[in-house]
Amino acid sequence: MIDRRGFISAAGIGLVGNSLKMPERPAATATPNKDPAYGPWIEVDSEALRTNVARVYELAGRRPILAVVKNNAYGLGLQETASILEPMPEIGGFAVVKPEAAADLRTWGLEKPVLLMGLADDDASVELARKGVELSLYLDDSVARAKHVFEATGSKVAGQIYLDTGMGRMGIESHRALPWLADLSSSGLVDVRGTFMAFTENPDFDQEQLLRFKSFADQAKAAGAALGRLHAASSNGVYHLPEAHLDMVRPGIALFGAYPSRPDEERAKQALTSAVRLCARVVRVQRLRIGDGVSYGRNYVAEQPTWTATLPVGHTDGYPRGAVEGAQALIGEQLYPIIGAVSASHCIVEVGDEPLVAVGDKAVLLGSDRPEIEPNNIAEASSSSVYDILMHLNPQLPRVVV
Ligand SMILES: *Cc1c(COP(=O)(O)O)cnc(C)c1O
Repeated sequence: MIDRRGFISAAGIGLVGNSLKMPERPAATATPNKDPAYGPWIEVDSEALRTNVARVYELAGRRPILAVVKNNAYGLGLQETASILEPMPEIGGFAVVKPEAAADLRTWGLEKPVLLMGLADDDASVELARKGVELSLYLDDSVARAKHVFEATGSKVAGQIYLDTGMGRMGIESHRALPWLADLSSSGLVDVRGTFMAFTENPDFDQEQLLRFKSFADQAKAAGAALGRLHAASSNGVYHLPEAHLDMVRPGIALFGAYPSRPDEERAKQALTSAVRLCARVVRVQRLRIGDGVSYGRNYVAEQPTWTATLPVGHTDGYPRGAVEGAQALIGEQLYPIIGAVSASHCIVEVGDEPLVAVGDKAVLLGSDRPEIEPNNIAEASSSSVYDILMHLNPQLPRVVV
C-alpha cells in the first residue's frame, strides 16, 4: 500500500521539515503548506466507503453484504478497499472475478470468505482452495475438476453453484442444472457454501430469472441437495428488486458511492457518497489571446481573451476523452469546464477572465465535493458509463486513503 508519505517520497520530492533538502520552487508555486506532488493520485475516502456500506445494508433489509471488489475494487484499489471493508460486521465476504485478485486478498491477510466468480485452471484452483477461496462451480466437468483439487489438498472443495438463469454469460444453465448438481453432490467432493445468479438488469426479464432461480433452489432442496446461501442482487437489485435480496446481497458499485442505473431515483431512495476522488495539481496557467487554441485538433479556439489551466490527468489515467463534452473540474471553490481535448496525460480547463488559479493548486476531477463531479455526473457529462469511469482508473496511480 502506498501511503501519502511513500507517495511523496516516491515522487522524489522531500517533505517539509525532514532532513532532505527541498528543491527550489518557482514563485508561482510558492504557496505554503501545499503537497508538492502534482499527481495525479486517487484518494479513497474511507468514511464514505463505510457510510455507503451502512446505507446498502439498510436498503438490503440488513442482510450480509458479499462485497464485489473485482477490477481493483472498481478503481479504488483492491488492498486499500478490502482492508477498510474487512472489519465491518455488515460485510460477509468478498467476490472477485480474477484468480490473482482472490489470491492477493489472502496474501494480504484478509480472512473473510472470498468467492471467485471467474474460472481458475487446475493449478490455480488447488492454490486457491488451499487459501480457503470458494470456487465457482458451473462447468460440465466440475466433478473432474473438484477431484483434482480434492486429491491435491485432501479436503472437500469449498465452492458455490453459479446458475445461469438467462444471462447467458457464466454459470450452468438452470434448465439442465438439476441432474448436474445431483452428480456433483453425490461425488462427495464439494462443500457447497452458496448458490448464485446474475440478473440481466432488464426489468421485464429479471422477474423471470428470479422465478427460474427459486424454482431450481426449491427442486434442488427437495431432492436433498445443499445449496448454501442464496444470492442474486447486485447494486441494481439491491435498489430495485427487494424480492431478490434472498440470504445476502452482492453489490459492487453502490459500495463505492455510484448509482447503478437510475441515479435520481436511487439517490432519493438512499443517497450514497463517492468514495473515490481523482486529484492532481495545476501544472501550467496561460492566457489565451483571441484566436489562440488548445490541444490536439484545435477543437477549442478562444473567441475572447481567457485564462486556461493545464492538469496532468489524461485518458491514460482513466479520465474519459468525452469529458470535453461537458465535464468540469473543481479547483479551489470553483468548477471549470474541460476544453479542447483530453490527451494521454493532460487535460485543460477554461478559467475565464481572471487568472484565478495558480500552478500547484489542487484540482478534483472526480469526487463527492460537488454534485457536478460525482462519478455518475461525470459519466453523463462525458457520454460514458459510470462503471467505465471507475474501473478504467489506472491501477498504477497512487492510492491515498483519507
Ligand atoms: C460485477 C458483478 C456484481 C456487482 O455489480 P454492481 O452492478 O457493481 O453492483 C455482482 N455480481 C456479478 C456476477 C458481477 O459480475
